[in-house]
Amino acid sequence: SCKTPADVLRVVADDQIEMIDLRFTDLPGLWQHFSVPPRALDAESFSAGIGFDGSSIRGFQEIQESDMLVVPDPETAFLDPFAEARTLVLICDIRDPVAASPYSRDVRYVARKAETYLAGTGIGDTAYLGPELEHFVFDGVRYDQGTNYGFYEIAAREANWDARQSEGNGPGHKLRAKEGYFPTPPADALSDARASMARILEEIGIAVEAHHHEVAAGGQGEIDMRFTTLTRMADNVMIYKHVVKNEARRRGMTATFMPKPLFGDNGSGMHVHQSLWQDGRPLFAGDGYAGSSELMRHYIGGLLVHAPALLAICAPTVNSYRRLVPGFEAPVNLGYSQRNRSAACRIPVYSPDPRAKRVEFRCPDPACNPYLAFAAMLMAGLDGIRRRLDPGEPIDENLYELSPEKRAAIPSTPASLEAALDALEADHAFLLEGGVFTPDVIETYLAYKRAREIDEIRLRPHPYEFVLYYDV
Ligand code: GLN
Ligand code: MG
Ligand code: MG
Ligand code: MG
Repeated sequence: SCKTPADVLRVVADDQIEMIDLRFTDLPGLWQHFSVPPRALDAESFSAGIGFDGSSIRGFQEIQESDMLVVPDPETAFLDPFAEARTLVLICDIRDPVAASPYSRDVRYVARKAETYLAGTGIGDTAYLGPELEHFVFDGVRYDQGTNYGFYEIAAREANWDARQSEGNGPGHKLRAKEGYFPTPPADALSDARASMARILEEIGIAVEAHHHEVAAGGQGEIDMRFTTLTRMADNVMIYKHVVKNEARRRGMTATFMPKPLFGDNGSGMHVHQSLWQDGRPLFAGDGYAGSSELMRHYIGGLLVHAPALLAICAPTVNSYRRLVPGFEAPVNLGYSQRNRSAACRIPVYSPDPRAKRVEFRCPDPACNPYLAFAAMLMAGLDGIRRRLDPGEPIDENLYELSPEKRAAIPSTPASLEAALDALEADHAFLLEGGVFTPDVIETYLAYKRAREIDEIRLRPHPYEFVLYYDV
């Protein structure tokens, strides 16, 4: 693994690298890239940057002010196992050449500022994040037809979902809905695919803790990465998605991280385990509820108080709110508990080791931009600590089974992306602390989501409208 520009240039020479692939993340959270031959990269590139046209990138500059620079981060270098040419990937920061400063809408810059802000608060020096990205791997035939109509057909079929499964195409055994967690092959038809994905991640240098089939029968999986620091973990999420999507494609299938592709079965979440540390000492362990410290309970208070606004960033699609409904292990109520998987915040109690003490925020899904989502959650938790927010009593009953009166007393997750965006518009001062998020980033994000996603979906007839209304 590389530390300095010199390390990268040595790898380029020693490993006969044929192509340098420069990557960064757009505002909604997709990796973008362009490639240059090795001679275009020198020691200078790591400070002066390499130019590109930043127009037509979602959420970035207008066309008249589109000259931008990517500045590769040497510590992110890895060999892309899916590229035909020997390709070294470098994840980049973005600079604005006119302002001669980091680009304010660069999501990686937001993530790095959140880490700097944490250190400046004196509360702790390090935040560790451990996301669990769930996903589906589907039979890729229709996707490969390359028509938009293919997507429409999938949606129309799913609207009439009848426990159809995509895995185990052949005759014989198929998983029953909600019983994907977790019988052995041949029921788990994706075990080999996940094992390859996990092996590739390890080869890239991302430690994997486990991989398994998930609850949904339609080919749902999860590969768990070992926790690490905030920006590094957001980089790892981007690499994870790249590996899962490309390994699925190599096997003639297609992977999706959309939160709720199938009606009637579990959706895909991205639970995020988080903890704060100071000088190698865990700050979340204590003698309170479930082995928590007071600091941790305030952090949870911050996550819960800001949850509606946070979800605009952490559960950022119209589709996300089809996942956040009762009955599918996704949180609906904004409470916390030590073992209750129906609560938004869970405090795992697997281990008595204080270093394992963490909160798992279960609302996020893998459609989010991890740089923005990790930064936003940290900011919410820190606001909770600063304002000593009280998360109230834990909820150890199954929240899905509470009486309607009891349940009504617990605030719930927003019902739609629209509601979450309104919450973010009303509540984002905590994100602006220390200049971590800027008003421009919040405004651009809100405008993008409203115009390009909410309106675009609202204007189109939904497939299920044909089921309900065709014969009116
Ligand atoms: N798929 C569930 C969700 O949407 C989580 C299932 C699990 O990991 N226990 O969050
Ligand atoms: Mg898990
Ligand atoms: Mg899971
Ligand atoms: Mg979990």
